[in-house]
Amino acid sequence: MSNPTIAIVGRPNVGKSTLFNRIAGERISIVEDTPGVTRDRIYAKGEWLDHEFSIIDTGGIDIGDEPFMEQIKQQAQIAIDEADVILLVASGKEGVTDADEAVAKILYRSKKPVILMVNKVDNPEMRNEIYEFYSLGLGEPYPVSGSHGLGLGDVLDEAVKHFPAENEEEEDESIKFSLIGRPNVGKSSLINAILGEDRVIVSDIEGTTRDAIDTKFVGENGQEFTMIDTAGMRKRGKVYENTEKYSVMRAMRAIDRSDVVLVVLNGEEGIREQDKRIAGYAHEAGRGVIIVVNKWDLVKKDTNTMKKFEEEIRDEFAYLDYAPIVFVSAMTKQRLNKIPLMIEEVSMNQNLRIPSSVLNDIIMDAVAINPTPTDKGKRLKIFYATQVAVKPPTFVVFVNEEELMHFSYARFLENQIRKAFEFQGTPIKIIPRRRK
Ligand code: GDP
Ligand code: GDP
Repeated sequence: MSNPTIAIVGRPNVGKSTLFNRIAGERISIVEDTPGVTRDRIYAKGEWLDHEFSIIDTGGIDIGDEPFMEQIKQQAQIAIDEADVILLVASGKEGVTDADEAVAKILYRSKKPVILMVNKVDNPEMRNEIYEFYSLGLGEPYPVSGSHGLGLGDVLDEAVKHFPAENEEEEDESIKFSLIGRPNVGKSSLINAILGEDRVIVSDIEGTTRDAIDTKFVGENGQEFTMIDTAGMRKRGKVYENTEKYSVMRAMRAIDRSDVVLVVLNGEEGIREQDKRIAGYAHEAGRGVIIVVNKWDLVKKDTNTMKKFEEEIRDEFAYLDYAPIVFVSAMTKQRLNKIPLMIEEVSMNQNLRIPSSVLNDIIMDAVAINPTPTDKGKRLKIFYATQVAVKPPTFVVFVNEEELMHFSYARFLENQIRKAFEFQGTPIKIIPRRRK
């Protein structure tokens, strides 16, 4: 359910973000297609052998105007709190510094597995520079070069050895969801209201990931739900908790572990830049999405207010056109009872399977309405389509040439499929593939 997590720690300029980008690899560039998603990532997914993991660049989390040494100590603390394996990065060019020693000491005391990477070892002659790093007391230093991509395999081989064993929780049938949104939009209030008196709380599931506390409850018709803990909901009073990057990182982790994500907006304040970024993360992760407009009690309303707000949402979050919108108040509890039902519906839609025969009828009808595009005299030919996955529903369309399937035509096919089936709340993917 939850990916093993690697965190990168080290003083500025040793090459953390270079290594982060190397390890996260091509996935990063895919992610940047979503409008509003920033380029300077600190959280991503990576893969090594048959392991999937999450990776955090703690160097990207700036902690107010704390002094330099304090900042990197806090970053080390975040790594200890969030990660299964910590990569401490130092620089072979500069050798061991005071800051390296300070961080090494904190990490050593945490008893978390730490792998010491000596970066900027760009050529074999430099390998002799690494011996002084034994003095950090973290065992064997691994020479690497982020800019040349050298030595990373050995580090990742070592890292996966420390990943927690897959646990058996997988059988858990509950629908997992989380609430994400800017500070103060009302996430905690909504949680408390949703978990209100009338629900049976099955259990607080302690620490699947570090400090996370998930809550499992049973909805009206017996469906089990697990609410995934997000930052800002159960504050632990640590300095870094109020930084934006940290809360974004926590939100992304919660999204990863969720089936359905509730993107919470503040109805009173309207849509802000940060809302778009947060919603973008939910979309790009391929999760089900419901847009929840909270504090509706505070909004002065006439007959058109809801419609106008809805149009604004559709405008600003164009890529989330599949997400249902609900206007609620955590305060008066208006429409809160709809939320579990909506989550359940979206979850069902994520798991829908369309028989190939029906799917192909729809595709052929679509082609009849709107002929396939041509490029340089060549026309896209669609042979057949088949659903290859759920969560999100994913369709492979076999074609003569993949490049001929333009974004706009894939979008058209998606809309035709959406017209025919109830895919509300779930993204769907269309993958063109050349028929051999
Ligand atoms: P961070 O502050 O720790 O995230 O460091 P960056 O990744 O931003 O890198 C700092 C500088 O070191 C940049 O100018 C990088 O191009 C450079 N750098 C990163 N990795 C290597 C490497 O393996 N060899 C060399 N020679 N330079 C590197
Ligand atoms: P979070 O930071 O997103 O978890 O937001 P909180 O749940 O802490 O709420 C922030 C503030 O908004 C608190 O003072 C809440 O009492 C208030 N609040 C939350 N939901 C509502 C609502 O639906 N209506 C009104 N009037 N206030 C709300």
